Amino acid sequence: MAPAGLFVRNARIHPTTSTGEALSDLAVDGDTIAAIAPAGALPPDGRPELDAAGCLLSPPLVDPHVHMDAVLTVGEPRYNESGTLIEGIFTWAERKPSLTHADVKARALEAIRWEVAQGTGLIRSHVDVCDPNLVALKALLELREEVRDIVDLRLIAFPQDGILSFPNGKELMREAMRLGCDVIGGIPHYEWTRDDGVEEVHFLFDLARETGAPIDLHCDETDDEQSRFLEVVAARTMRDGMEGRVVAGHTTAMGSYNDNYAFKLIQILRRAGVTIVANPLDNIVLQGRFDTYPKRRGMTRVKELDAAGINVACGHDSIMDPWYPLGRGSMLDALSMLVHVAQMTGRAELFRAYEMVTTNPARAAEVPWGVKEGLPANFVVFDCADEAEAVRLRPAARWVVRGGRIVAETEPARSVIHRAGSTTPVSFIKPGGAG
Ligand SMILES: [Zn+2]
Repeated sequence: MAPAGLFVRNARIHPTTSTGEALSDLAVDGDTIAAIAPAGALPPDGRPELDAAGCLLSPPLVDPHVHMDAVLTVGEPRYNESGTLIEGIFTWAERKPSLTHADVKARALEAIRWEVAQGTGLIRSHVDVCDPNLVALKALLELREEVRDIVDLRLIAFPQDGILSFPNGKELMREAMRLGCDVIGGIPHYEWTRDDGVEEVHFLFDLARETGAPIDLHCDETDDEQSRFLEVVAARTMRDGMEGRVVAGHTTAMGSYNDNYAFKLIQILRRAGVTIVANPLDNIVLQGRFDTYPKRRGMTRVKELDAAGINVACGHDSIMDPWYPLGRGSMLDALSMLVHVAQMTGRAELFRAYEMVTTNPARAAEVPWGVKEGLPANFVVFDCADEAEAVRLRPAARWVVRGGRIVAETEPARSVIHRAGSTTPVSFIKPGGAG
């Protein structure tokens, strides 16, 4: 049954930088945004009403890079005490044999609920396919259909242990795509040799030709300045006419390249239309582990890539798994880390950064994203005034709307201060202010 419609009053509609401080009303019919007009100019026509009270109304957040098969496994079978990427991979390899269909589905559903409750409407999850039985993949393919009412989940075939360096790696990738994976993943820098890594990249593009699927690979996730697979990816993207359909995640080696090489690389990435996804929560703790001091930040060149006109997005990557014991499924947490590590704290930069968890990753997923008449009624009312405040406060998602239906709602937290000597103290404040 189609929703009865919805009427949101007094919203500041994204992007607030172009609409200024003006308040708008938004009318939804069925699953579509029917009208947007200055506050007070539209009749609600009997639709159920929500009062945004001056808050930001944003397109849903997008998590373009997460590992839903590994979420909530932290400590199983042991904790990653060194905190390194490699101990994470080894710990995961120990956990993998005990994966079951039900185990994967239950953990992923819980993390998806966390993300949805905090405003995420589109999730692209890598799924480790270095498993002869593809247990996690089969579970997530099923879950993808079961969560359609609350989120758009897309799955990426991810060869965690390599394709050439893992037995039957190519066939497992092909099988994952046959079973219904949406996107081809990869990990060329993890193959045993440079040549194997290059061959892996060519295999991914050949598979893309066969299947018509886009590519989203892990690339150069290392502090080794000699790890240079991204140039191979960019070249094949152009030769195969796949501009706009290729995403490279992490690319942390770019934080260690010399400026001459980085300049050349950025030029070809722009021509190739490759999207770069930074994963600052994981990489600020995983990288730089072999350094003493000065210690590298180990993040890709977010600010410079963005300034060069390259589509840049921000992913959550891990939620309580062997690589990252923290995380709560908040894309605004990930974005907060990004603006710190990338030093994007200028006023305009904060607004710019907000696009990295909304419109930029949606463009990479080839999905129209925005709050406009005629588009699907997918949006979030955040308990804050604008995008910069969303980054600062990481506020409650008051209402999360998908297809014209409220799929999650959250009451903002409030605190009470008790002053000494006062029997009627009670100052109600909102920690952090605003909203
Ligand atoms: Zn990842």
